[in-house]
Amino acid sequence: MSIKLDIVTVERLVYSDDVDMVVAPGSEGVLGILPRHAPLLTSLASGELLARKQGEDDLSFAIGGGFMEVQPDKVTVLADAAERAEEIDLNRAKDARDRAENLLKSEGLSLDELARAEAAIRRAVVRMNLAEKRSRKHPRSYE
Ligand code: ATP
Repeated sequence: MSIKLDIVTVERLVYSDDVDMVVAPGSEGVLGILPRHAPLLTSLASGELLARKQGEDDLSFAIGGGFMEVQPDKVTVLADAAERAEEIDLNRAKDARDRAENLLKSEGLSLDELARAEAAIRRAVVRMNLAEKRSRKHPRSYE
């Protein structure tokens, strides 16, 4: 028994396959989704989404917020941004974090600008953590 996982953004279909379990960064906390899960609609925070298939390494995605709809046989993630761990450009994420941190030091930011800079830092930190975790696991792909 498996569950179909689709991860989409406005730009592309990031992933579509049958998996055994999904672990998603729900805005109220981490959610573990198995086949036959009760229907659910939730917003997502920036964080790591894991797709587990028996006998294979977990697939890891950086999710930059969005929504997730769960049906007993299907999980649909509509992400603001989503990358597989191996697609993440670590230097780009570090630059994005540095830019946002510098912005936070400036005076007279509006609440909106503040919230956007904080969200950019959260996205960048998730990407950095995933890329670093992956480089520890697969050092040669980062040489
Ligand atoms: P940046 O300032 O570097 O664009 P961002 O957090 O503003 O970062 P997003 O708006 O979340 O970027 O994403 C824009 C697009 O760029 C998405 O398609 C996202 O998947 C991709 N993206 C963003 N940062 C990275 C990264 N470090 N590595 C790979 N893809 C990235």
